[in-house]
Amino acid sequence: MQRIPAVGLGTWQAAPGEVTEAVKLAIDAGYRHFDCAYLYHNESEVGAGIQCKIKEGVVKREDLFIVSKLWCTSHKKSLVKAACTKSLKALKLDYLDLYLIHWPMGFKAMEDLVVTGLVKAIGVSNFNHEQLERLLNKPNLRFKPMTNQIECHPYLTQKDLIRFCQARDVSVTAYRPLGGSSEGVDLLDDPVIQRVARKYNKSPAQILLRFQIQRNVIVIPKSVTPKRILENIQVFDFELSEQDMNDILGLDRNFRMCSLPIAKNHKDYPFNIDY
Ligand code: NDP
Repeated sequence: MQRIPAVGLGTWQAAPGEVTEAVKLAIDAGYRHFDCAYLYHNESEVGAGIQCKIKEGVVKREDLFIVSKLWCTSHKKSLVKAACTKSLKALKLDYLDLYLIHWPMGFKAMEDLVVTGLVKAIGVSNFNHEQLERLLNKPNLRFKPMTNQIECHPYLTQKDLIRFCQARDVSVTAYRPLGGSSEGVDLLDDPVIQRVARKYNKSPAQILLRFQIQRNVIVIPKSVTPKRILENIQVFDFELSEQDMNDILGLDRNFRMCSLPIAKNHKDYPFNIDY
């Protein structure tokens, strides 16, 4: 099975009207992994960018690693295939490389999509370690989740959950690796990140991304800004020292930005335990 490329382009809040161009530029810059979701309401624009680059002959479908996610309104077994087909149609693809269950409130029927060939692999998102353990221990599990996509950045380093996943051969994908935007918290301005950035002559964003790559964590920074799209994939020509890695890990404050408060009382709400 194909491995997940270490850097992917995030597409949440990438507005229709700008995301097609962002995808096209990203493919030209060497991105092969795109993180999409039904919920983001822009899959057809993402698909237009992909389609354009395939038509131009810049990439073939099989060079790309396209991820989408099943939203919570389609967990019922009878709705899963239709939801997947809808995303595929919008993305103008005949299969997905990876389909994630967006939040851990059900994992039914995802496996059938692998059997039918609509998706190459399935995975999870926002699962805590107990939920993942339960899933992995299912006696009738047919396909192991390929990844657990979780919020991860220096203010939420997820050390325990990453150790847990990687020990079970489930890769980890860090969403919100740059700390996102409009949360009133600017990770890019953190003095430690700034210091390390100056030391390596890299941007703060490149330090945040490199930090994850050195932990074998996949990153999916979102950007629609050409300069940043390029910058965010130029993270393979330097290495952070152990001391700098430890200094960044030391910033952890268990600060979660994407906590889906609306689901707090759901029995499968994932963030009521330590990790
Ligand atoms: P990110 O940490 O990727 O931050 C995105 C923000 O950072 C945007 O405002 C972007 O601005 C800005 N930015 C990007 N690159 C740079 C740079 N080099 N320097 C300075 N600023 C920069 O946050 P997201 O929440 O978007 O997370 C990434 C992706 O993860 C999402 O797009 C989505 O695909 C996925 N995700 C998954 C979730 C899940 O539940 N599974 C939840 C949340 C996200 P601009 O675009 O204007 O350049």
